[in-house]
Parts: sequence; C-alpha cells; structure tokens
Amino acid sequence: MKSCLSCNAQADIPATAPCATCGATVVLRDGVAIYAPEYTDESDGFKAEYFDELVKLEDRNFWFRARNRLLIWAFGRFMPKGGSFLEIGCGNGFVLRGLRTAYPEARFSGSEIFLNGLQFARQRLPGVDLMQMDGRHIPFAAHFDGIGAFDVLEHIDQDEEVLAQIHAALKPGGHLFLTVPQHMWLWSAMDDLACHVRRYTAAELNSKLAAAGFDVQRSTSFVFFLLPAMLAARLVKRNVAPEDVDTSTELDLHPVLNAVFYVIMRLEILLIRLGVSWPLGGSRLMVATKRKPTV
Ligand SMILES: [Zn+2]
Repeated sequence: MKSCLSCNAQADIPATAPCATCGATVVLRDGVAIYAPEYTDESDGFKAEYFDELVKLEDRNFWFRARNRLLIWAFGRFMPKGGSFLEIGCGNGFVLRGLRTAYPEARFSGSEIFLNGLQFARQRLPGVDLMQMDGRHIPFAAHFDGIGAFDVLEHIDQDEEVLAQIHAALKPGGHLFLTVPQHMWLWSAMDDLACHVRRYTAAELNSKLAAAGFDVQRSTSFVFFLLPAMLAARLVKRNVAPEDVDTSTELDLHPVLNAVFYVIMRLEILLIRLGVSWPLGGSRLMVATKRKPTV
C-alpha cells in the first residue's frame, strides 16, 4: 500500500502513482522515484563521495564479505519463502546483489537518501526497484514481508522515528533485519569520520525495538574473535584527529591479513548458524518481527 508523504492517506496503488486524496505527485529521475528531493545530493549522515571509495573496497574487504554471508543466512532462516524485501540505505547495492544472487525468487527493492549511491546500484542491480527516500518518511504501509537496514541507524539522530516508519511499512508478522556498530567504548575517529551518531548496546536496541512494536527473534554480536584486533587498531589511532584518519588503511588491509580475518569471520558465522549468540563484538545483528494485532 502507498502511504502519501504529503497527507498520510493510504491507498492500494503504486507508491509512484499520484495521491488520490491530495493529488501529490512523485518525481521520477532516470527511472528512480524521488521521495526526498531535499536530500538528493547530500545529507548530514553520510558523505556522498564516500560511495566511490566503498565500491572498490567492498568486493575484497573481509568485513563486507562476511557481513553479506551473515545476512544471506539470516534472510533464508527467517524468510524461507522469499517475498518482498526493502533495504533502506542500500548504498551502492553490495548487500542487495548478494541477497538477490542467493534468493533469485524474492522481490527486492532498495532505497538510499543519496542519488550518488543509487547510480552504482542501478548498474549492479538491473530489475531491482530503486528509490531515493528518507528513512524517516517511508511512503509505504503494510507493504513489505521484510525490511533491512544494515549499518544505517547509527547515522540517524531520530532512529526511533525510523523504526516506527519501518514498522508501519512492514506487513504484520513481517521481519526487520538490522546490523549496527556496538559498544560506545569502541568509539574512535573512525566513527566521527563515518558520521556516526552512536554505537549501540543490546539493551538500547531491545528497548527501542519493543517500543516500536517489534518482538526480537534473534540477537547476536558479531566480530567477536576479532574484537581484540579491532580494539588495538582503534587505541593506536585514539589521539589522531578525524581529518587525519585515512579510512583506506583500516578497510584496505594487507591481502594475507584480509584472508585470515575472513576465515575467522566465517568460523564465527558458522557458530552463529549453529545457535551461538556472541555477547560482545564490533557489531550486532538483530532480527525482529512486527507484532500481529492481538484479537
Ligand atoms: Zn496525499
């Protein structure tokens, strides 16, 4: 269902169709629906030029590859029948490409506040419905079987508003998949540089999800075995000013180290699949369902 961003009217028409109640129209640019034109080129939460760098790094970096493995497992575990899935903050489409390859029968959509990121996504993901949208204003109601936001919430001041909007956009019983950076004691110049507002605790995320009307189905840390290495890397850079941090050194590891870290992450993810929930780690995965109305 479409939920009009101008008048909140809900109607069973495509989200790109003019609102039948107030007549508000949606602008299409190169086939991409523009729902938040005021943010197309920049926003406080993320530096648009960062996408160019990310494209080169993601394909080889152990962390992005391992996170994709984890998400592909989680999708299959909680949405075995596939269905419709929206990724909020899909960036250049690295996660959606992985999910679509693993689950070609599911229907994938991706949103991003920056058009810059979507240009890469469009090349990578022909046939996927891409839209420019602000996660705080989602033009759908009871529409998707699953919604994911992977390392997105920590960029947004109004994270509770985003969770409420996701809740409204999900069908009852639909699944929310989240990954977020964890533990404020891991805060470093890297977080400043990435425009993070916070790193989460499990308790904070649990209470925000419950308040938004979700039941948590699975919650685990990841980047557990590599936490000492992560902590050491961050302590070394503790006194470096954000403008002097070179992101490529943290993400573009020596190939041997990168390969070793990937093997360690795969072991950790295998154990998650077998039921282990890690208490600590650089990041947290949460899967939650939208509560069905009680009769
Ligand atoms: Zn309207």
